[in-house]
Amino acid sequence: MPHKPDTSAITAGRDNSRSLSPAIWPNSVWESDSLADATKRATGLRSETFYSRFANPTVTQFENAVAQLEGAESALAFGSGMGAIASVILSLCGNGSHIVAQNNLYGATLSFLQGPCARFGIETTFVDPAVSGSFAAAVIPGKTMLVIAETPSNPRLAITNLAELGAIRGPFTVVDSTLATPMGQRPLDFGIDIVLHSATKGIGGHNDALLGVIAGEKDLIDSVWGYAVMHGAVASPYDAANGLRGIRTLGVRTERQNQTALILARSLEGHAKILSVSHPFLESHPQHELAREQMRLGGTVIAVEVAGGFDACQSLVSQLQVVRIATSFGGPETLVCHPATSTHVGLSPEALATMGVTDGLLRFSIGLEDADDLVDDLHRAIATL
Ligand SMILES: *Cc1c(COP(=O)(O)O)cnc(C)c1O
Repeated sequence: MPHKPDTSAITAGRDNSRSLSPAIWPNSVWESDSLADATKRATGLRSETFYSRFANPTVTQFENAVAQLEGAESALAFGSGMGAIASVILSLCGNGSHIVAQNNLYGATLSFLQGPCARFGIETTFVDPAVSGSFAAAVIPGKTMLVIAETPSNPRLAITNLAELGAIRGPFTVVDSTLATPMGQRPLDFGIDIVLHSATKGIGGHNDALLGVIAGEKDLIDSVWGYAVMHGAVASPYDAANGLRGIRTLGVRTERQNQTALILARSLEGHAKILSVSHPFLESHPQHELAREQMRLGGTVIAVEVAGGFDACQSLVSQLQVVRIATSFGGPETLVCHPATSTHVGLSPEALATMGVTDGLLRFSIGLEDADDLVDDLHRAIATL
């Protein structure tokens, strides 16, 4: 019988060295026995003991762990989530290629599609993921190479229908599953080709590693590697070791953070100073049923719209004592950010409006503190508005 995710997370990626924690291989290079042996290493697929841009044993352990948790044949790590996104797009697209992507994406992903990709002749059609069939309708047969979704989306937590996306034939389907983590959902089970994470967030989970990872069928991941080895956005073995350490506790962390997120979200719903609260597992979320169908856990982020716009946000945030101001999520500390002036500050007013990033929107990343202390902190701050 296959083990449950919490059990798999404890052993995933472990090698046969008898070491319960990963060995960190800091070296950039390995020696060869002969020139012929060096040629073999230089031309081998993902050669592990040649040069660390090609592969590194510590990074491989992290990759194997993610592959196992995602139910994938193979995984490939990167120096950041954006390293993963850029490498996937540039390895599978060229001048004249077309991409279909949802209109509410992580800010840098959106900027990458609109900036460098457009400049290289890779055109993107943006669709509303909440409209059934919108991705499939925008696919141009023979031209569309990629369909890119992000679910839940950052920062408004919109849910994209994974089964509908997985049924699309022709282009490769890519899902940025960062906000869910492998504990929250498994996109490959729905027929998605590539699942992608910024492991900087929940997977790493301690705000001490910058890391990205993709997982899918071996042939597809190998072909991304063929480009990635030249692109050079490779993961550091130190960060990979921290990523692996994060995976060991991913189950308990995400479950607790999900629980606290719901407690906090419910405590804010209906408050006179709060216009809206979003979390995928909140009954009031417009795609609540879909979220429950395709997710095991609803995630660790809540989006809160405060009455009074930016000024109210600024004054609320200034009163917080437990919650810290920072942009990332998935770590032990509860964090707050104002997307319109930080994570999404580079986007046009139209893009912000499409994504629902208003002046009054705050994104909270729920950490591991006691829920009572967080509820007190937030409500005391809101009471001063
Ligand atoms: C943070 C993030 C990224 C980018 O990851 P980095 O590790 O910061 O490069 C991509 N997608 C989502 C949804 C993210 O939250």
